[in-house]
Amino acid sequence: MKLKNKHVLVYGLGDSGRASIKLLKNLGAHVSFYDDNVKFFDYIGFEREPRKKWDLVVMSPGIKCHENELLQWLENEKVPVISELDLAYLHSKGKIIAVTGTNGKTTVSMLAHYILKAAGKETFLCGNVGLPFSAVCEKTTKNSITVCEVSNFQLETSRFFRADVSTILNVKPDHLDRHGSFEEYLRVKCKIAENLKRSDLLVLNLDDDVTKKLDLHKKTKYFSKNGLKHGTGVWKNQIYVGRKKIISVSDIPLKGEKNLENVLAAVAVTTPFKIDEQAYFTAIKNFSPASHRMENLGRVFGVTFIDDSKATNVASTIACVEAFAGEDIWLLMGGQGKDIDYDDLFKIGFNIKRVVCFGQERENISKSAQKFAYKTQVFEKFAPAVEFCMKNAKEGDFVILSPGCASFDEFSSYAERGEKFKKIVLGKLEES
Ligand code: ADP
Repeated sequence: MKLKNKHVLVYGLGDSGRASIKLLKNLGAHVSFYDDNVKFFDYIGFEREPRKKWDLVVMSPGIKCHENELLQWLENEKVPVISELDLAYLHSKGKIIAVTGTNGKTTVSMLAHYILKAAGKETFLCGNVGLPFSAVCEKTTKNSITVCEVSNFQLETSRFFRADVSTILNVKPDHLDRHGSFEEYLRVKCKIAENLKRSDLLVLNLDDDVTKKLDLHKKTKYFSKNGLKHGTGVWKNQIYVGRKKIISVSDIPLKGEKNLENVLAAVAVTTPFKIDEQAYFTAIKNFSPASHRMENLGRVFGVTFIDDSKATNVASTIACVEAFAGEDIWLLMGGQGKDIDYDDLFKIGFNIKRVVCFGQERENISKSAQKFAYKTQVFEKFAPAVEFCMKNAKEGDFVILSPGCASFDEFSSYAERGEKFKKIVLGKLEES
């Protein structure tokens, strides 16, 4: 795609938008930018009248497509619109591993990257996990392997993106507020397989009710927590790829069944790159996930605190509570809802001493928990909810923040919510 001297509009000015502006400038394009958010009006290059015949428009993942008037206008005027992911893809070299799914994307992307590094490969990590692909693509080479975490928001407007290896880890209800229905959410996830070539590999989870049924691509391989003849599976407590032994399950430092799925996925997506057993073993054994993902903050007066602030949908909360099943749990849940049914969690019958609800969704969560005979406590704000747990949990109990909701009613991100949790808990630790 030749963009020299072309007039390009970047729509949306988050991290991805800003990275695309830089890339487009490097490519010699005349770049303007626009954001529905007025706070960017003062910037040189900000386009007040975006309804123009651009040569190209690049959409950031943060922009809502549904009933978007500007997008509709651009479509009617036949202005070509691509995603930031497309722009970066079209200007990248080497191989790409694309990771999508409702939960586990960051963990799998990071671990796959770590495995490739341990094997001495030239590798990049980008996408939803941190650095946008546009910020990385110019550094890629014909020998590099780029691991790209791809969210639904990035896939929504993508048309060209394709990866040598793609995976859909799992599909559970999430972002229904933005996509309108589960079917639409699933349709967008499946776009990851839309442009695959025959030689490309699709990796799917055989233990997930939705992904196991998908029929998207001929060259599909599976991973499972059970034995598999051809894919990546578990046999007598060891992970195998076909007949090749990778690691014993007891050597995996990550907690819980879902993290075992994440390890299997990371192994499965890297198998085409000829990684030796030792590199797999070393990488998996020494891997630690990013913050706010089932992160053990330690003990205060004998009570253990777990920060799982990144759990922003019900399926991820289930994964976390399952990982600590057997403990006496005080579960902190709440925030901004996404039209997801909390009954899916409470009907399982986990041992939870108290469900402590906060934020906009507090009453909905509490009602659902009470339906299944759980004791609940409701707080408008986050901090008093945490303090309540700290006051009432007994020695040996676990206080788990795994909110099952977005954070935007009270915080700018899940990370800010997790940091606040840490601050309150560790503040008490210093007092003790
Ligand atoms: P994502 O990038 O898809 O949000 P992360 O790897 O950041 O996924 O994990 C987010 C949260 O989801 C974790 O804190 C944990 O509670 C939960 N989780 C992680 N892996 C899985 C999985 N494979 N299935 C379900 N939940 C998971």
